[in-house]
Amino acid sequence: MASLTLFSDKDRSLRRRHPWVFSGAIAREPPGLSSGQTVDVRDADGGFLARAAYSPSSQIRARVWTFDEREAVDESFFVSRIESALEARRVLVPAGQTNACRLVNAESDGLPGLVVDRYGDVVVCQFLAAGPERWRDAIVAALWRTAGATSIYERSDVEVRLKEGLISRTGLLAGAEPPQLVDIVEHGLRLAVDVRAGHKTGFYLDQRANRRAAARYAEGREVLNAFSYTGAFAVAALAAGAAKVTNVDTSSSALELGDHNIALNGLPADRVENIEADVFALLRRFRDSRRSFDMIVLDPPKFAGSRLQMDKAARGYKDINLLAFKLLRPGGVLLTFSCSGLMTPELFQKIIADAALDAGREAQIVERLGQPADHPTALAFPEGTYLKGLVCRVG
Ligand code: SAH
Repeated sequence: MASLTLFSDKDRSLRRRHPWVFSGAIAREPPGLSSGQTVDVRDADGGFLARAAYSPSSQIRARVWTFDEREAVDESFFVSRIESALEARRVLVPAGQTNACRLVNAESDGLPGLVVDRYGDVVVCQFLAAGPERWRDAIVAALWRTAGATSIYERSDVEVRLKEGLISRTGLLAGAEPPQLVDIVEHGLRLAVDVRAGHKTGFYLDQRANRRAAARYAEGREVLNAFSYTGAFAVAALAAGAAKVTNVDTSSSALELGDHNIALNGLPADRVENIEADVFALLRRFRDSRRSFDMIVLDPPKFAGSRLQMDKAARGYKDINLLAFKLLRPGGVLLTFSCSGLMTPELFQKIIADAALDAGREAQIVERLGQPADHPTALAFPEGTYLKGLVCRVG
């Protein structure tokens, strides 16, 4: 087995079972290693630290498959890792009310660079790093054996692949072509997912529990659902008795699918308003025209992809949250989210506090929201936590 040897002071994070080896930690590596090749990672004295997948073009030069020297990385390795991830979901996301969830959450499920989502009988994969790319056939075979899917589809059309020297790929991996829209059930509500062209693998599964939280505040309320995508928060709110929901998104196709989702659940279309607009601009227009709401959901896309973007991201969060606070009627609630992993919960809370202050509103945090159980964070991999939310009630 080829080995990477680390500098003597660069083995601490691996000893704490963090699964990444950065290029700067490597003192020696043999020539000619190929993309995704399995290598052993050794300390300066030659002691075994981990077995990992080599990524020649990424700063994260290797991602750990196992810390156990006796564990081989072969077809059966992927069967056993995938089986244990699936087994965990059977308990964490009980079938019946919900048939869509994340089956494999990459590093946090011991499979760095591999994301697998279930939408009913359709399973969608993302191979985000050289390791899973190298083992794609074994991974697809293991999923086919264990996941009970009729289709396995690939959505590896993501930018991070470029850092790995991999090109974008999408298409059928196994089974039948999935339908144009895959119907899923989330907490008993029906939603249509476009696995070919939708965002990520088609849908924001990570907000499932938070949509349920939103439902608890929605009865009788006029709701602004900003960054609505396909209206999953709108469906949850209306099903819970919201008086009206206004969806806002820049994507007209997402808004159209939102209408379809309202109809799928037999919910009243006349209680839904769709506005194709930039949220930043629209909130200003609403402020100027003194429009108000009882409840506002702010679920923006990731504003900070790197540390360099953090200041700009912080200003973006401050801006939309300040405007949202201004639009809320007394007693109203704001459900505000950030999916930027670099934004800590502490900093996010501070930004929201500043926004309320500058809006001249007194507000309390009444609930803290995060990722659902099918998006776990391995304790050794804190980077796995990215989604945070606050429910704030204004006075
Ligand atoms: N709340 C959604 C997920 C939102 S994802 C759900 O539960 O499924 C973020 C959405 O914001 C995307 O649909 C994207 O099209 C939209 N978006 C991004 N920038 C925007 C902007 N400036 N104004 C309005 N919508 C925007």
